[in-house]
Amino acid sequence: MIKISPYARSAATFAAAALDLALPPVCAGCGAEGVVLCGRCRRPLLDRLALPPGVPLGLRAEAPGTIAQLEWCAAFTGTVRAALHHLKYSGEQRLAVPLGDAVAARWSAAGVGGELICPVPVHAERERQRGYDQALLLAEVAARRLGLPVRRALKRARNTRPQFDLGRTARLSNVADAFELRSVADRTLVTGRWIVLVDDVVTTGSTLAACADALYSAGAAAVSAVTVARER
Ligand SMILES: [Zn+2]
Repeated sequence: MIKISPYARSAATFAAAALDLALPPVCAGCGAEGVVLCGRCRRPLLDRLALPPGVPLGLRAEAPGTIAQLEWCAAFTGTVRAALHHLKYSGEQRLAVPLGDAVAARWSAAGVGGELICPVPVHAERERQRGYDQALLLAEVAARRLGLPVRRALKRARNTRPQFDLGRTARLSNVADAFELRSVADRTLVTGRWIVLVDDVVTTGSTLAACADALYSAGAAAVSAVTVARER
């Protein structure tokens, strides 16, 4: 049996501590000094906190077919969009803490199940350029809050085009078979378990569905997903 070590000190925590010494934080939403995201700019992350699970999204194809439950914290606009942009493109890894906390809060309120947190992997090339995987940072923070183990079980099987410049149908074929389990140990770990995918933004859900396909192929019992934001 593979031992999961969920409570190891996360990379995000160390990175945040190191950065605090080097660079005073500035709010990604409004520029206020002292915090990476101030109270006022965090407020949209709480917008959906009290909503019941499974609220209709107002779109025809709601949760992607293979995803048991899809939840998110806020619309991909305003300060939430700015915070995610800073996390991804400005190297502000400390934003993973308030954003990961929001993911955990929404999942605590609305998630109906889950045994293992799993980040949606970024492209290896982009992770090399950036030096980190923002979904992994979010997943680590959320998992710690939720008291669940986290495992980077998936990897990109091949390079896909960025999803943002593709239409819905093209997105689906772009990511089909794009993900696979990292190792035999990961395969063993997800077998029979209820996996909760974590990512920064969901748009059509085709990336989440492709991750779910890989996990179901490895014998996962169920796959749910929670993201910081939803883009329409
Ligand atoms: Zn602010």
